[in-house]
Amino acid sequence: MVRSPCSRLGRAGEIAIGKGQARLVRFEDVAARYGQGPDVLTGLSFELAPGSFHFLTGPSGAGKSTLLRLLYLALKPVGGTIHLFDRDVATIARSELPAIRRRIGVVFQDFRLISHLSALDNVALPLRVAGAREAQVHDHVAELLSWVGLADHLEDLPPTLSGGQQQRIAIARAVIGRPSLLLADEPTGNVDDRIALRLMYLFEELNKVGTTVVIATHNDALVARFPHPQLHLEDGRLYRIPGRPLAKRVRAGE
Ligand code: ADP
Repeated sequence: MVRSPCSRLGRAGEIAIGKGQARLVRFEDVAARYGQGPDVLTGLSFELAPGSFHFLTGPSGAGKSTLLRLLYLALKPVGGTIHLFDRDVATIARSELPAIRRRIGVVFQDFRLISHLSALDNVALPLRVAGAREAQVHDHVAELLSWVGLADHLEDLPPTLSGGQQQRIAIARAVIGRPSLLLADEPTGNVDDRIALRLMYLFEELNKVGTTVVIATHNDALVARFPHPQLHLEDGRLYRIPGRPLAKRVRAGE
């Protein structure tokens, strides 16, 4: 078993998930679209239990990124209700958004790193914003970056690094604050199989200490290798595919 730096962390759930909170995420009949365009998602109903681990799968254009945008409150649904951390997101004030977003780690497909900050400073940012003591920040960030294979690049600026290296910085930044919910959009899209596995172990370690994980991926080999259930989007519908050994498709909500 590969132990990542996350295995030394406390449980995310004890801090971030309120007592008795049965569902971290609940979608009821949710619809989403962009501007005046057609509905991209419609009639979406599902729940995510705290501490669960799901792959989000489906063909390109099925709406995986759109579903993640709804989850990190970057897109408002045009129908239905979304509950996140036991709150109806329609009732969340703009002023409350930063505090709620701090509980969500996001790995964006386009990384969104700050180009004039070093790899180390990019990853340290969420800890510094949260007021962590500087003495702890450096060692913790350096350890995590080493674990994802970037020990020799702590002081490098993102534009000088490869896509795969930038992706690993983005992942380290998303997990460093031990979020309640981790959302990752194709987090292994730019790395080789060995690094992809290492990143999956990192996500699993984070999950073991309480983080609920949703990973959107096209990588069928990776999905087949791990036992986690899938939320599968196809033809506008969401299917739940149970984790191994069952592999039967069950329409979500049925
Ligand atoms: P996936 O992540 O599964 O590839 P997306 O959620 O990116 O799917 O896209 C779902 C649909 O929404 C596609 O038809 C896509 O063209 C459309 N779409 C995605 N983002 C936007 C956007 N910013 N503006 C307009 N349409 C969009």
